[in-house]
Amino acid sequence: MLVVMRHDATDEQVTRVVSAIEAMGFTARPMPGQQRTSIGLVGNDRRVDGSGIEAMAGVAEVIYVTRPYKQVSREWRADNTIVTIAPGVSFGGADVPIIAGPCSVEGEEQIVESARMVKAAGAAALRGGAFKPRSSPYSFQGLGKQGLEFLATARRETGLPIVTEALDEAGADLVAEYADCIQIGARNMQNYSLLKQVGRMKKPVLLKRGMAATIVDLLLSAEYILAEGNDQVILCERGIRGFDTLTRNLFDLSAIPLVQSLSHLPIVADPSHGTGLRDKVTPMGRAAIAAGADGLLVEVHPHPEQALSDGGQTLFPEQFAKLVLEAKAIAGAIGRTITPAPGAVRPPTRGKLALG
Ligand code: PEP
Ligand code: MN
Repeated sequence: MLVVMRHDATDEQVTRVVSAIEAMGFTARPMPGQQRTSIGLVGNDRRVDGSGIEAMAGVAEVIYVTRPYKQVSREWRADNTIVTIAPGVSFGGADVPIIAGPCSVEGEEQIVESARMVKAAGAAALRGGAFKPRSSPYSFQGLGKQGLEFLATARRETGLPIVTEALDEAGADLVAEYADCIQIGARNMQNYSLLKQVGRMKKPVLLKRGMAATIVDLLLSAEYILAEGNDQVILCERGIRGFDTLTRNLFDLSAIPLVQSLSHLPIVADPSHGTGLRDKVTPMGRAAIAAGADGLLVEVHPHPEQALSDGGQTLFPEQFAKLVLEAKAIAGAIGRTITPAPGAVRPPTRGKLALG
């Protein structure tokens, strides 16, 4: 249930509604909006009688949230949630940040070189896994803590915020010490104890769609994080398993506008895992920006042919630089701006165009 306050409701009236909700045995979550404050009831799913609250001073209406992914839904919050992972790098508004870097952190020199290269091309954040979820136990599993240290060095050298994966509950606190945004990978999308753990943190989370997950499954997984109190969640479409073997995954472009109509959370696109094919990353990256994605996640490596993971879907530096230029043109055509790299000059805005 969601209690929408009148636009002229006083702080005292809001406080009284909060107390009334708590007296009913629920947690009240006040959410100040641009127009008015809403107060959400967090608790179990049983239907509550809101008639008493509806009659209270300052209350405009009581909405019964019908979606199972309550706090994630647009019914719960009409305005977009803006997730800021570092000063100037926000997802969910007019800005579209590009997160780029290698699949894995392979060494200090490799990640620092990658960071410099993606920053020069126009990326706003650096990606790279220190803990890698690999299909085979014999494949490179990542450098672990040392990889996180190297990411921290790359951030110091370039100013790029870090997006990196937490693989399990045991390692999540360590990852949180280094990351500006914690990635939860496709294989862990329904690892509910891990979702709850990052939900208790105050760090932004990038939640990737599982490879056999529906859009509702993705939103329900995000709900686990919000239910614990962390609403700084960026969703990510990274392709689902299809029956065609010509691509690694079936990149679901329609997930972008669908999620945006169902949820207030930002959604970014990962055309690298989405296709698994280097020469298909750029067309799908361009398409994702055109479809309204709130960001891109792209695998780029100074020497993709030497990459220890996902080399075949990893862009060469010059391919990435070209993609950023094209993304800027496409974003501009729909009234959005590719977030400049840290320290780069922001381009003048060309007037506001409403997104369809
Ligand atoms: C990754 O981002 O490198 C990764 C492992 O992605 P996913 O979880 O989408 O497979
Ligand atoms: Mn990868």
